[in-house]
Amino acid sequence: MLDKSLMQQLTAIDGVELDPAATFADLTTLRVGGKPQAALRCSQPEAAVDVIRALDRAGVKFIVVGGGSNLLVADGAVDLVAVILDFDEVSMDTETGVVRAQAGAVWDDVVARSVQLGLGGIECLSGIPGTVGAVPVQNVGAYGAEISEVLIRVRLYNRRTDSDEWVPASDLELAYRYSNLKFTGRAVVLEVELQLDTEGLSRPLRFGQLTQNPGERRPVAEVREQVLSLRRGKGMVLDPTDHDTWSAGSFFTNPVVDSALADAVQAKVRASLGDATADSMPRHPASPSDTDREKLSAAWLIDRAGFAKGYPGSGRATLSTKHTLALTNRGEATAADIVDLARTIRDGVREAFGVELVPEPVWIGLALDE
Ligand SMILES: Cc1cc2nc3c(=O)[nH]c(=O)nc-3n(C[C@H](O)[C@H](O)[C@H](O)COP(=O)(O)OP(=O)(O)OC[C@H]3O[C@@H](n4cnc5c(N)ncnc54)[C@H](O)[C@@H]3O)c2cc1C
Repeated sequence: MLDKSLMQQLTAIDGVELDPAATFADLTTLRVGGKPQAALRCSQPEAAVDVIRALDRAGVKFIVVGGGSNLLVADGAVDLVAVILDFDEVSMDTETGVVRAQAGAVWDDVVARSVQLGLGGIECLSGIPGTVGAVPVQNVGAYGAEISEVLIRVRLYNRRTDSDEWVPASDLELAYRYSNLKFTGRAVVLEVELQLDTEGLSRPLRFGQLTQNPGERRPVAEVREQVLSLRRGKGMVLDPTDHDTWSAGSFFTNPVVDSALADAVQAKVRASLGDATADSMPRHPASPSDTDREKLSAAWLIDRAGFAKGYPGSGRATLSTKHTLALTNRGEATAADIVDLARTIRDGVREAFGVELVPEPVWIGLALDE
C-alpha cells in the first residue's frame, strides 16, 4: 500500500481519481496480472504531470498504462502504481492534414475518424489496440507502415528535466518496434501530432497481402476495410468473446540478424526440413535504410520449430489457434502460465535454428530468463 499522506496528496490533485478495484488483469488485453499499489486515473495532461512529479519525488515506482495491449505483468501484489491517462481530445484539419490527439484517445478511433475524413497515412495501422500515447513508444507498425512515417511532434512530460514540452519525432530515435521511451519510461507521451495526406488515398502500399502492385495508392476506406478483415482472420482485432485475441498481439519481434546468421538458419532448416521448406524461408531487408541486415519471420520459425497454431492443444495458455506469434489466455491463465509458454517457444526456436527470439511486450515483475 502507498503511504497514506502521499495517497492523500495524489487524490487531492484536480482531475485525479483513485480506481480502488483495478487489477492488471482488468487493465491488460492478456488479462493476467495482480494488483498495483494504487491505480490513478488522470483526466487532464496537467493532472498526469502532477501525479508523475509527485511519485518521482517520493521515489515511488509507477507505470503508465494505456490499453494494456503490450504489457505482461506479474501475478499477485505488484509493487508499483498504475497511472492511467484518460484525456482523449482529438482534432483533425482536413485542409492541412494535421491531426492532434491526446494520449488517452483510443488509437483505432483516431484511425477510423481520419479515414472517414479522407485523410491518408495511418490506414494500414487500422485495428491496432491501445491508446494514442503508446503508439510512438514502440513505433507501432503493421502491413508495411509505421507511425514514424507520419509522426511529426510529440508532447512529452520529461521526468528528468521536469518539463512539459513538444519535441520533434526524431528525438525518439524511432526504429523497428523501438523508441527510446520503450523500457526506459524516461518521459510520458501526453499528445501527438501527425501529418496526414489530404487526397483521400492511402500511402503507397508495399505489403503483399494488400496489393499485387507495390507502390499503388488506393482509397483509404477500402484499405482500412481490407486491413481489418486480414487482421480479424489472424485474431489481431480485440474481441472479448474470442480467446485468440486475449493476447499482447505479436509476442516476439521478428529477429533482425546479419546475413551470415540468416544463411546458417536456412542451412539448419534445409538439413532438418528439406529443400522445399528451406527455399520458402522468409528473408527480407531489415528496413529500407538497413539493407545489410535481414529480418526473419518469428511466426514462420515458431511454426517450423514444431509449435503449430493452438500449441500445446489444451491448457490455460496456448498459442492462438489463428496465428503462431500470439500467446493467448484461454480464460484462466496466470502471468506465470504465459511466461512458461514463452520460455518453451523461445527455447524450442533456439534449439532448432539457433535464433534468439526477443519478446515484444513490456514485462513488469517477470523475466524470460529465470
Ligand atoms: C490483438 C493485438 C494486436 C496487436 N497488433 C499490433 C500491431 O499490428 N502492431 C504493433 O506495433 N503492435 C500491435 N499490438 C501491440 C499493442 O497494441 C501496441 O503496442 C499498442 O500501441 C500498445 O498500446 P497500449 O495503449 O495498449 O499500451 P500499453 O500496453 O498500456 O503500454 C505499453 C508500453 O507503453 C507505455 N506507455 C503507454 N502509454 C504511454 C504514454 N502515454 N507515455 C509513455 N509511455 C506509455 C507503457 O508504460 C508500457 O511500457 C497488438 C496487440 C494486440 C493485443
